[in-house]
Amino acid sequence: MAGASTHSHSHSAPAPSLSARRLGWALTLTLAAALAQALGGWWAHSLALWSNAGHLLSDGIALALGFWAARVEDAPPTQRLSYGYHRSGIIAGFLNALLLGLIGATLVGEGAVHVLRPEAVDPGPVAALAAGAIGFGLLITWVLSPTAGRDLNVRALFLHAFWDTVGSAGIVLAALLVALTRWGGWDALAAAGIGLAVLHAAWSVGRDSLNILMEGVPAGLDPAAVRAAMREVEGVEEVHHLHLWALKPGFPALSAHVRVTAAALAADGGQAVLGRLQDLLDHRFGITHVTLQLEAGNGPDCAPCGGPTR
Ligand SMILES: [Zn+2]
Ligand SMILES: [Zn+2]
Ligand SMILES: [Zn+2]
Repeated sequence: MAGASTHSHSHSAPAPSLSARRLGWALTLTLAAALAQALGGWWAHSLALWSNAGHLLSDGIALALGFWAARVEDAPPTQRLSYGYHRSGIIAGFLNALLLGLIGATLVGEGAVHVLRPEAVDPGPVAALAAGAIGFGLLITWVLSPTAGRDLNVRALFLHAFWDTVGSAGIVLAALLVALTRWGGWDALAAAGIGLAVLHAAWSVGRDSLNILMEGVPAGLDPAAVRAAMREVEGVEEVHHLHLWALKPGFPALSAHVRVTAAALAADGGQAVLGRLQDLLDHRFGITHVTLQLEAGNGPDCAPCGGPTR
């Protein structure tokens, strides 16, 4: 094994138990807030509060999904699930995005209808309850923020809680405008605005999780640059069947066929080339989960896998 690098290779991430506990707290707070907003919306004839309530209920479902994913992700790999459960967070994130898209579209539609046919909104209780929702939103944002950067699913929930808080601030503003102008349409406009923010969140989360589910190249990695760098390694003649994907955010993987020179094969069966490639991919691109197939020029023909393999 001349020239082979120390190849650290682990399929088990550090346990995100902190993340699971915080998600549990966020779930409890969100369901309590949803109940308060629903009662307030019924009492004050406010579509904006209703939209906050329905939306917070869906947040509860999203948080429950996130809670489930955070627990399941710790489970060790098995013989038949050799990558473990890394993707469970991605699946939760994607389901969350679908749910958000549905809710966002409903809120925009209902908001538009009630701008045309405004209700007799009672602005006092609306402002008070929306202010309460801001308090809840800030609390949830604070609960989730320490783990927001690491995990796509938690990041989605965090961003979401932040925009919910902005939405509640919009409801307070709308209630003030209702009090000033005596026109209930402001309340419906706030509901539609919340719907648009929810649609935006759905798009952002859905796009990121879909890229991982589609085995897309992770953001920040340029496949052309990786291929070019591999070709420049001493002893490499050509690279094909290059695949670059991620099991989850921060866990990129690569597989490729590498044709090596006759001299490199004669020297040590290509082991030195293999070591140089592993070092390059690890140190320059941060890819440690690497599978390389070394080939001689006169080897068996490769079955094409579609796409730009050559
Ligand atoms: Zn929300
Ligand atoms: Zn291929
Ligand atoms: Zn090949």
